[in-house]
Amino acid sequence: MRRGSKLVLRVRALDAAQPFDAEEKLRRHSRLKQSLTIGVLGFGNFGQFLAKRFVQQGHTVIATSRSDYSKIAGDLGVNFFRDIDDFCEEHPDVVIVCTSILSTEESLRSFPFQRLKRNTLFCDVLSVKQFPKQLFQQLLPEDFDILCLHPMFGPDSGKHSWKDLPLVFDKVRIGTSPRRVERCHNVLQIFEAEGCRMVEMSCEEHDRQAASSQFITHTVGRMLGTMELAETTISTKGFESLLSLVDNTYNDSFDLYYGLFMYNKNTTAELSRLELALTKVKSELFDRLHERIRNDIFDDN
Ligand code: NAP
Repeated sequence: MRRGSKLVLRVRALDAAQPFDAEEKLRRHSRLKQSLTIGVLGFGNFGQFLAKRFVQQGHTVIATSRSDYSKIAGDLGVNFFRDIDDFCEEHPDVVIVCTSILSTEESLRSFPFQRLKRNTLFCDVLSVKQFPKQLFQQLLPEDFDILCLHPMFGPDSGKHSWKDLPLVFDKVRIGTSPRRVERCHNVLQIFEAEGCRMVEMSCEEHDRQAASSQFITHTVGRMLGTMELAETTISTKGFESLLSLVDNTYNDSFDLYYGLFMYNKNTTAELSRLELALTKVKSELFDRLHERIRNDIFDDN
């Protein structure tokens, strides 16, 4: 440090070449904080939606997918690789799996993990959680970290802002070294910085709760969509919210809906409960109707 024309050396540590120690510490700190190279596997609707925000936040984003999205990726500032080996050889810090629920196992079983860095963080954003967690634990090399994520919003509901929208996460396997801990923190920070409501929850608990909330929402949306409900001239607020439920769910691929059902072991029971509830409501209506008719038929007084 120079004060006036005098050079002043300040002692920062007692055991080595002090100025270099401090510099190295600072350099290491800034390395930890630096932006991530994020690899998106599955560059469909949701993969693109996330990638756009990652780029806006200053991260380097690369992507690969079954289909060729070179043009769309280029427009978003994402480097697209048709060849999955080339994608891996870019050595992303983080790989985020954005494939459909149904294709995830097949995609992971053919994934060339050996071409990635030994120290890679794997995330997924599937709308079911226990299934990808289990797959990751079975298939990923032991040195890889695992962070399961579920942004509980999509390109429609999160179009303008992610503020207050829930991000469920489970730190399934994160190494204890500062670099690994910081990298996991940096990924979560992407969502926190957008104002998401951060919910730490085990994958198993997520699936229990999602079966009675998200799956039921999608099922009712699909039922109403199948009924082809249409705007009326006397639509109430309640009816308008039903139409917007159809809008929010019926446009998703059927694969996604089937994935929500098939790969969450809690959904069968919830579907039965929904069916039972409709039967119960119907029987309340018909019981009352029958009672009135019988009262008219039989004059017991
Ligand atoms: P999706 O239909 O569930 O998935 C589309 C993606 O899966 C595309 O990248 C597609 O690749 C890939 N894919 C499909 N079949 C494949 C196969 N046989 N082999 C290889 N890749 C295959 O639609 P999405 O909305 O983009 O959802 C992606 C993931 O995000 C899903 O796991 C979903 O649960 C999750 N998620 C979605 C939302 C949402 O609102 N959409 C919200 C939260 C989480 P190509 O396009 O290259 O064919």
